[in-house]
Amino acid sequence: MKELVFATNNEHKLRELREIAGEKFRILSLKDINCFDDIPETEPTIKGNALIKANYIKDKYGYDCFADDTGLEVEALGGEPGVYSARYAGEDCDSEKNIDKILAKLKNESNRKARFITYIALILEGNTHIFEGEVQGEILTERHGEGGFGYDPVFKPVESENSFAEMLPEEKNAISHRGRAVQKLLKFLLEK
Ligand code: IMP
Repeated sequence: MKELVFATNNEHKLRELREIAGEKFRILSLKDINCFDDIPETEPTIKGNALIKANYIKDKYGYDCFADDTGLEVEALGGEPGVYSARYAGEDCDSEKNIDKILAKLKNESNRKARFITYIALILEGNTHIFEGEVQGEILTERHGEGGFGYDPVFKPVESENSFAEMLPEEKNAISHRGRAVQKLLKFLLEK
């Protein structure tokens, strides 16, 4: 079975990715390769941050690897929080505070359109490849559901009546930004 490092410490993402990858690839985490570094995410774009993370692991640890970076873009907020999605409510914030901030900013807003966008940067055999996945949807006026992570309780994709947090993992993976980007990544790896 092929081994690839997924440059993340996010257990939710690892679980999602392993569910999607199934038996085809063994996905190693940063912990699995004894990397406990605080990998810089200093680029001004989502794609740039995916690239910086993948290159960091390849350069320092020598593994073929991939990294993802995701942003939530809300139309009425001019694309915010975008590249700042993880720390929208400040450096020491958490998902609850980020959600509170979005809901407050959209309080009297009727245009609730938003999208998640994911970029995956893959470094394989000396070459770099980028895969993109997107899901369109809307920001709900209050939280719905207990599942998922991040902004899931307030994001409802156009394909469903439910928020991401109300879906089973496989339902979310089938239509999510990361699911779509990962499907492209896996297709590429399998056709190689
Ligand atoms: P990251 O840069 O990919 O770690 O994601 C940036 C921010 O977007 C984090 O605050 C995550 O909580 C949030 N995020 C990423 N993916 C998802 C998702 O699938 N659902 C909800 N929030 C997400």
